[in-house]
Amino acid sequence: PFVPGASVTAGLNAAQREAVLYLDGPCLVLAGAGSGKTRVITQKIAYLVGECGYSPRHIVALTFTNKAASEMAHRVQSVLPGKQGRGLTISTFHSLGVRLLREEAALVGLKPQFSILDSDDALAILQDLLATTDKARLRSVQHTISLWKNGLIEPDEAERTAASATERDAAKVYRSYRDTLVAYQAVDFDDLIRLPARLLEEHAQARERWQSRVRYLLVDEYQDTNVCQYRLVRLLTGPRAMFTAVGDDDQAIYAWRGATIENLAKLTTDYPNLKVVKLEQNYRSVQRILAAANSVIERNPKLFEKKLWSDLGVGEPIVVLPQDNEEAEAENLAMRISAGRFERRCEWRDFAILYRSNHQARVLEQALRNLKIPYTISGGQSFFDKAEVRDLLSYLRLIANDEDDPAFIRAATTPKRGIGQGTLHGLGTYAGNRQVSLFCAIFEQGLEAHLPERQLYALREFGSFVQRMQWRAGRGTPDAQTPASSEPAGPILDDLVAAIGYERYLYDTFDERAAQSRWQNVIDLLGWLKRKAEDDGLSLMELVQHVALITMLERGEDEEPDAVKLSTLHASKGLEYPHVFLAGVEEGLLPHQGKDDEEGDPERAAESLDTRIQEERRLMYVGITRAQRSLHLSWCKRRRRAREDIVREPSRFIKEMGIELAPVADANAGMSPKERLGALKALLNRPGKTA
Ligand code: ATP
Ligand code: MG
Repeated sequence: PFVPGASVTAGLNAAQREAVLYLDGPCLVLAGAGSGKTRVITQKIAYLVGECGYSPRHIVALTFTNKAASEMAHRVQSVLPGKQGRGLTISTFHSLGVRLLREEAALVGLKPQFSILDSDDALAILQDLLATTDKARLRSVQHTISLWKNGLIEPDEAERTAASATERDAAKVYRSYRDTLVAYQAVDFDDLIRLPARLLEEHAQARERWQSRVRYLLVDEYQDTNVCQYRLVRLLTGPRAMFTAVGDDDQAIYAWRGATIENLAKLTTDYPNLKVVKLEQNYRSVQRILAAANSVIERNPKLFEKKLWSDLGVGEPIVVLPQDNEEAEAENLAMRISAGRFERRCEWRDFAILYRSNHQARVLEQALRNLKIPYTISGGQSFFDKAEVRDLLSYLRLIANDEDDPAFIRAATTPKRGIGQGTLHGLGTYAGNRQVSLFCAIFEQGLEAHLPERQLYALREFGSFVQRMQWRAGRGTPDAQTPASSEPAGPILDDLVAAIGYERYLYDTFDERAAQSRWQNVIDLLGWLKRKAEDDGLSLMELVQHVALITMLERGEDEEPDAVKLSTLHASKGLEYPHVFLAGVEEGLLPHQGKDDEEGDPERAAESLDTRIQEERRLMYVGITRAQRSLHLSWCKRRRRAREDIVREPSRFIKEMGIELAPVADANAGMSPKERLGALKALLNRPGKTA
């Protein structure tokens, strides 16, 4: 007999099937992590297109991050192969907002080519309006305005209701900030949701157009929508209300950005015929991991009783790793991953290291590079992608390889040294005709006919500087007249950075704070390079080749290379990995300390502390539930914050997971990294090369 949806629901449990097949009105799936909510969305898309005759053009699925959107598109592709899924919209709220706004720009007084400001651009505008360079103040004003925009609060109301000092500060410039954006024909990120919502509200024709286009809407991670996004969902779906939202109140982690769990309650009042489906089986994690997650989240007040179970077996014990400091932590995690991949016979992609704060990534990245472990990073910029790090690495790349034209261009022009676009254009044309690299072209006689004296001089001066460095780094001169030098890498690196005047360049180009933090990154980079050279006895040339090798491994990031995933907890939402390492599970970091922004009223401060801990707890819950088979937690007894060593305690969440913290004997405890390394070298009977 014909069973509707049999093929797309074959791998689903009864509750999931119910949610997929339900088309009589709005539907909400409310369930814990790993229970197959996202799977309901992908199967429902397949059902709508494959069996109900919906055109893909009429289906829109929304998520929060680009990563989650591409993951979802990928899953849909596997149930709707080939051209079947062509025309589907699977995107973030923001990219849908951009699309809608480009098409309807005129209705809100924008040109279709309006520009989108990132948060730094927006900050620069606020800086002008407030006539201050105090970054902390600017950021909190920006944040406050953002909350208003997301809450659909207009300047008038903001002025009337501003309560704290920051709010009054922000209210003063909110209106002029908005007017400035209009004058620039620009929008900020919040406008990408706010303006479409307003537009659909005010213009009936546009609303009808979009409502007839969006015949079915699906929303993932519904618990993290803000007022604006909720409004947009309502307007897009209209009175027909054909939509499915899935979410988990225990994974709401964006309250600080204005998301509100009340949206869950609102659905039930705004749509009295709302169908609510709950899922209880977890298909992701082994029982130990699930039990730990449940035990943590139990301490939060709950909306409704949720009992998740799993039949994936008990699993390995969760391992807690106390570490001396963040370097030891990073080194240890990298080593465990390296060994784990071998022992478990799995791939790099099966491992993820998750952390609370972006700044934790740098040391982790360096440790992974030391062991030549490929990785990708999300939820923040890679240390090695920062402009100042790339600047200096471009010199090193050029020193190692004359043929590296992109490195040549970057190094020759940063800091400025009289080599401009005109010079490079002349040089490039000449090199192109001669089929040689830019660097080699500098020294050719023929170039003299193509460039004015002054430009030629600047180029050759730069060229011979690089040659001197190449020689000191351990390369012979091209004519082999001078043998390679064997200087250690450290002093050469210092001389290089001093010779190009990089520190002064930073302070001349950026404001004090930015320059300081960039310079700190340079110091960190140099420190890492020198340590690496010393520990492994590498010459600068070998060191540079090592660095270049890892850069190569990173290429082709689009096609999901086999790499360990580094991610903030926020950016890991919705994703899953066989083996998860949570780094920095310490009081002050997770839960995060945050700012003491509720000055004055102790009652309010206590209340906000409570809410904050609850949000941090949900973040911990998200972190734990990313793991499928194994989970490691590490914490540092000391951590460096702005040159100070701070003593740390293990996070309360470890206890809440039901793990008793016995003092763990660390074989290497008490040894400095240098001593540890010495011990290792002695063991390998391989003394390091010395200069
Ligand atoms: P999160 O709350 O973390 O976003 P989720 O509820 O969206 O989790 P999914 O990512 O959809 O959960 O599913 C978790 C895992 O379980 C996925 O690997 C998915 O393929 C698998 N899964 C979901 N439903 C089933 C099922 N009925 N049978 C087998 N595997 C399933
Ligand atoms: Mg999901």
